Amino acid sequence: MEKILNYINGNFVVSKSNEWIDNYEPATGQIYSLIPKSNSEDIQTAYEAAKTAFPMWSQLSHEDRSNYLLKIADGIEKKLEEFAEAESKDTGKPIKLARSIDIPRAISNFRFFATAILHAHDEAYDMGKIGFNYVKRKPLGVAGLIAPWNLPLYLLTWKIAPALAVGNTAIAKPSEVTPYTAFLLAKVCEDIGLPKGVLNIVHGFGAEVGEAIVTHPKIPIISFTGGTTTGKRIAQHAGKLLKKVSLELGGKNPAIIFDDADLQRCIEISVRGAFNNQGQICLCSSRFFVHKTIYETFKKNFIEKVKNFVPNDPILPETSMGAIVSEMQIKKVLHYIEEAKKLGGNILYGGKRVEFINERCKNGWFIEPTVIDNLDPYCSVNQEEIFGPVITLTPFESEKEVLEYANSVSYGLSAVIWTQNLKRAHLLADQLEAGIVWVNNWMVRDLRTPFGGVKESGVGREGGLEALHFYTEPKNIFIGLL
Ligand code: NAD
Repeated sequence: MEKILNYINGNFVVSKSNEWIDNYEPATGQIYSLIPKSNSEDIQTAYEAAKTAFPMWSQLSHEDRSNYLLKIADGIEKKLEEFAEAESKDTGKPIKLARSIDIPRAISNFRFFATAILHAHDEAYDMGKIGFNYVKRKPLGVAGLIAPWNLPLYLLTWKIAPALAVGNTAIAKPSEVTPYTAFLLAKVCEDIGLPKGVLNIVHGFGAEVGEAIVTHPKIPIISFTGGTTTGKRIAQHAGKLLKKVSLELGGKNPAIIFDDADLQRCIEISVRGAFNNQGQICLCSSRFFVHKTIYETFKKNFIEKVKNFVPNDPILPETSMGAIVSEMQIKKVLHYIEEAKKLGGNILYGGKRVEFINERCKNGWFIEPTVIDNLDPYCSVNQEEIFGPVITLTPFESEKEVLEYANSVSYGLSAVIWTQNLKRAHLLADQLEAGIVWVNNWMVRDLRTPFGGVKESGVGREGGLEALHFYTEPKNIFIGLL
């Protein structure tokens, strides 16, 4: 059985525990590799390596750090196919998605921050005859970076790239559910000669190795993406130690469709917004509110398009819907479908586990894309995060009513509005409790923009300047001229 290894101080090593965790292929439900069950001792070793590398790395010129990151991007690009196959196998996502979104976006993350630091400039505040202030932005030291399973390489590199670009060294912890592409990334770092200790990748369970990062007294900064419950726990630990934290958490995102929407385009994009990556993208829309005058038309046409999402073996090039990431996750999704039925919901499409795809996938974790209506907007199915291919449809009459529905959840990550009415779009976008609002589109990413949520969807922002600021500490220096 293949063994994934930790990458510490430039070496591929087993955990001090010498214990292993099974790694499953979701499409087959079979164990296909093992990952180190690391612990706080491994984190201490990684910390020592990162701390030792910090003075050298932080004092490199911007150009030199930039060149290393560009080489990592090139290294991933050269092996794009290997990365895409690994990501698809590890997560159950369709290979075409890994090839076109996950891996290219991971490459872009490195290129974006590698070049951003070449153009960043520091602030100065002139006080005339008295003197002036200038602001130095300094890296903090060893950054702790913790990522989830849904977009494994994409979200991990979204943290690694800015953290390293501005001069921090790092300990990164991929999800134990999807560790493989982080292992491949470590190999790329070795190939391109990244100085040892700059990036350390430690695998293992969140409660053990993730918590060891968060509670390590000398790691001053934590960037976390994952569930809200975990985020709250991390915030408590980090609070006690006064660490700088960024938390990108769960969501229950609304899509609001008005009667003047370009319905054809809206439906085409909305179906992807609902079911891409089996609905396991934090930005997926899960609650669709449709104006009552177009409700029936929308429902009929939407379901027609959902039929294109046929669960199938993710390694096949034409597959548009793959497997759910884990047994635990598929049980959670099925639980919510049962809950919806009990609450009087109509299962308009799907609703069942797919029992047989092909011989290879006979024990895989597949579920039909599921569309439900006739549920109260305030019921558990409409309020709690499912994080799977299940969406609800609810009709609405007025803007006031739909705004209330949309904002009624404890989350506030993203929202979508479909309308041709510019005034309405601006006013509603302003009032929606969400960190990101798309009007007439979904998941359009511009790496310069702030990314993150409000309420229980998180604290802090990633992306662009926000990330460059998060991973540095500003120091104001006053120079007196009197
Ligand atoms: P999770 O919270 O279970 O795990 C995320 C990471 O945290 C994993 O690496 C895990 O090992 C680690 N972890 C778990 N317990 C920990 C602890 N006590 N201390 C430190 N680390 C710990 O989340 P998940 O199930 O992997 O991911 C799904 C969740 O992530 C969903 O809620 C989804 O909405 C959210 N998500 C949010 C965003 C965003 O940008 N807001 C993006 C993707 C996913």
